[in-house]
Amino acid sequence: MRKLSKKLVYFFAPGKAQGNAAMKDLLGGKGANLAEMAALGLPVPPGFTITTEVCTGYYKHRGRYPKELKAQVERDLGRVEQVMGRKFGDPHDPLLLSVRSGARSSMPGMMETVLNIGLTTKAIPGLIAKTGNPRFVYDAYRRLIMMYSDVVMEKAAGIEPAEGRGIRLQLERLMARMKEARGVSKDTDLTAEDLQVLCDEFRARVQEVLGKPFPDDPVDQLWGGIGAIFQSWMGRRAVAYRRIEKIPDDWGTAVNVQVMVFGNMGDNSGTGVGFTRDPATGANVFYGEWLPNAQGEDVVAGIRTPLHVNEAGKTEHNRHLPSLQTAMPQVYRQLNALQKKLERHYRDMLDIEFTIEEGRRWMLQCRVGKRNGVAAVKMAVDMAESRLITRQEAVRRVRPDALIQVLLPMVDPQAERNARPLAKGLPAGPGGAHGMIVFTADEAARRGKELKERVILVRNETSPEDVHGMHAAQAILTARGGMTSHAALVARGWGKCCIVGCAALDIDMDHRRLCVDGRALREGDWITLNGTAGLVYEGRLPLVSPDLEHNQEYRRLMRWVDSLRKMGVRANADTPQDARQAVAFGAEGIGLFRTEHMFYGEGSAEPLFLLRKMIASATEAQRRKALDELFPFMKSDIRATLQVMGGRPVTIRLLDPPLHEFVPHEPARLKELADSLGVSVDDLERRVSALRESNPMMGHRGVRLGITYPEVSEYQVRAILEAAAELIKEGKRVMPEIMIPVTCTAGELEHQLQICRRVHEDVCRRLGLKRVPYLFGTMIEIPRAALTAGKMAQTSEFFSFGTNDMTQMGFGFSRDDMGAFLPAYLKTGILPDDPFQTIDQEGVGELVRFGIERGRAVRKDLKVGICGEHGGDPESVKFCYRVGMDYVSCSPFRVPVARLAAAHAALEAKARGKQPEGD
Ligand code: ADP
Ligand code: MG
Ligand code: MG
Repeated sequence: MRKLSKKLVYFFAPGKAQGNAAMKDLLGGKGANLAEMAALGLPVPPGFTITTEVCTGYYKHRGRYPKELKAQVERDLGRVEQVMGRKFGDPHDPLLLSVRSGARSSMPGMMETVLNIGLTTKAIPGLIAKTGNPRFVYDAYRRLIMMYSDVVMEKAAGIEPAEGRGIRLQLERLMARMKEARGVSKDTDLTAEDLQVLCDEFRARVQEVLGKPFPDDPVDQLWGGIGAIFQSWMGRRAVAYRRIEKIPDDWGTAVNVQVMVFGNMGDNSGTGVGFTRDPATGANVFYGEWLPNAQGEDVVAGIRTPLHVNEAGKTEHNRHLPSLQTAMPQVYRQLNALQKKLERHYRDMLDIEFTIEEGRRWMLQCRVGKRNGVAAVKMAVDMAESRLITRQEAVRRVRPDALIQVLLPMVDPQAERNARPLAKGLPAGPGGAHGMIVFTADEAARRGKELKERVILVRNETSPEDVHGMHAAQAILTARGGMTSHAALVARGWGKCCIVGCAALDIDMDHRRLCVDGRALREGDWITLNGTAGLVYEGRLPLVSPDLEHNQEYRRLMRWVDSLRKMGVRANADTPQDARQAVAFGAEGIGLFRTEHMFYGEGSAEPLFLLRKMIASATEAQRRKALDELFPFMKSDIRATLQVMGGRPVTIRLLDPPLHEFVPHEPARLKELADSLGVSVDDLERRVSALRESNPMMGHRGVRLGITYPEVSEYQVRAILEAAAELIKEGKRVMPEIMIPVTCTAGELEHQLQICRRVHEDVCRRLGLKRVPYLFGTMIEIPRAALTAGKMAQTSEFFSFGTNDMTQMGFGFSRDDMGAFLPAYLKTGILPDDPFQTIDQEGVGELVRFGIERGRAVRKDLKVGICGEHGGDPESVKFCYRVGMDYVSCSPFRVPVARLAAAHAALEAKARGKQPEGD
């Protein structure tokens, strides 16, 4: 256990600061950046930061502070007073303070802040005399009472009032009543006298509800505020948030104590927030909002419509209102210069808070700003082009997962700015979607699938019975549930737009009605979701589709990505169309072509019938006959795909799924099949029921089929090699790789290799070629295959890790049934992640690492890749690089994500001074 370091408090003031931006762990993000801005000489109100270590100690020692804290706070308060030339608690000229929380990483809306600390009944006349502005003074006091009674006297004291009985709400109601009595609508319309009366009412109410007088001593207020911030770290909301974001409890929060500046001193004052670039589009323009005569959170609280900082960013809501640029041109110019200076210094887009006190601008906060994926790409490339950052930094700036947003449709940012969200929930699946509300999965399936309408499934929560409707819907919206709820897991798996935990939705299933934000919506009404931000809108907002062809920034970034990455990226594709798409997304080959695809979906009727015929055959001769008929279908798709890939490797997997998946059950189909086989329906049913398995996943499938019916493998291999041979004869380049699935022992591979060799010889002879190039290899998906990889590599020229099945079999978790228990594992933290989403490095990952090691020990040039869904998950991609894979393969859509993740992996390895571990 680490001892508390002696220094517990760090001072900052313009031109001098003891901390800096690198000290986020100790000073929290807010404190570290306040110090950095102060050191840069920016106008930051002086103050000091109490470290996160004090918070950690506070919890370790049951709410006690280290004994040095008091003296250090007093010392730095003295320095603040010296800089300001005023004293905290001086009744004639009181210095007021804010007490602000600030953890290492921002936890929006979770932690507390109290403004105007130090304002007491004794100081009020002094401050009025000093400012000549009684309205301002009572406005500041009523804000202090509201915040302090809520944060310090109620929440930090552990009082949990009944719904709607919280002290803050009660005071807000008093204020609303006052406005009503005066016939005004805005807070700013209340006069000094009104506010004075209100403050008296507030104090009486605090006494009545909380049984204590409002503290009237500045020092009591200060320590009350500090204690409440530490207390808020363990508040219920904050703890829940940290669980979701995986922020450890022992990080603690810092407390920033800072001189108040006032945006509520009249019309030449105000407060606002901004971004150094537009966070929705990435455009290089100062983007922000402000309110005149306002303090603190007024801008974001939505009490009044905020104004825009400049003419460029106006929306329909504030188009008619003056911007800061026109209202206070000089302040705007200064502020603009400050934000530019800050961005140049930080070399990134920043989110800033500022306050204007009687024409003077003050900086109150800055941090690296959140942005959507589209903006992230544009900013990174723009900044690299203007030499603010290097190309490597630009590549590192874009999170692989954020890149998917560039590939998805999104709500038109301009339209979104002009719309007001109905509700906000958790962003469980990115991208934008619009559609008509439906309340049941069946309705979603009917209208979505059959009528081909755009629908959004709205539920309190979803369950496995809803999956068909979820699939048919454009998007999913739930009132309950968190980021690991059923809806969130399923949507993420499909890459579908999804918002969960949208508590403001009140769904009335009896009347098929949805009430939200005072509006009633019915089935069939249009809504629009921004799944990237978790926002719900009424109506049909336009979506913009990605246009990669013309997205210059994207193309440039991906060029840099490809020059940095060392590992290959392929796609899983089953048709020539998929293959074309994959190449467009930058795939360098196909890592998984499933031969069975031709039996599903459009155009599958005839091949499926022939397959069924094969399955139901009783003799080899019958089977061969059916296979003969099936053969042209097999060959044509393989041929077309090899041709599209033009010499790039194409891994073709022999038939994998359990046969019973293809068996017909409808009487009409059975009859048809029976007739064509010349047997009775009864006979056929007997054969079919013999195929039934109690555990098909581990049943008669994959290579096992090729062992029991070698002709099934033979025809497939022939289709592959003939297709390749024909293309070669036409002068084309091809590189097929034959992959045997579900193997667990070297003997199986030996057996299948003989078939391949025989067919190869035969094809060459018949087509007059010396040889057809191909590789022979296997999936490694059964734990035993990984453990005996040395033997498997004697026949295999390549391994492709099938980590979906390996995760199923490694954990013994049935993927189709885990909905019942996996959420509990994630919620309790027993498992850190869904192992089907991100590879389990310490278990399943060990099998992979071991398999590669053993395989390469036998065959040095063994090609190794992965073809499970993990191939598109950034963390898993990095793992694949570290264990020395040659490539990852994922769905075409995730290819850009995997390319970027592979580049990140290479950069991280370089930073560690290491090559991949397998090298
Ligand atoms: P959060 O962590 O939620 O951003 P902050 O600590 O930034 O909370 O404070 C909330 C609001 O109070 C912000 O709008 C901020 O600008 C304002 N504020 C904080 N400290 C001061 C101060 N010293 N003077 C004026 N306004 C302040
Ligand atoms: Mg803030
Ligand atoms: Mg498999």
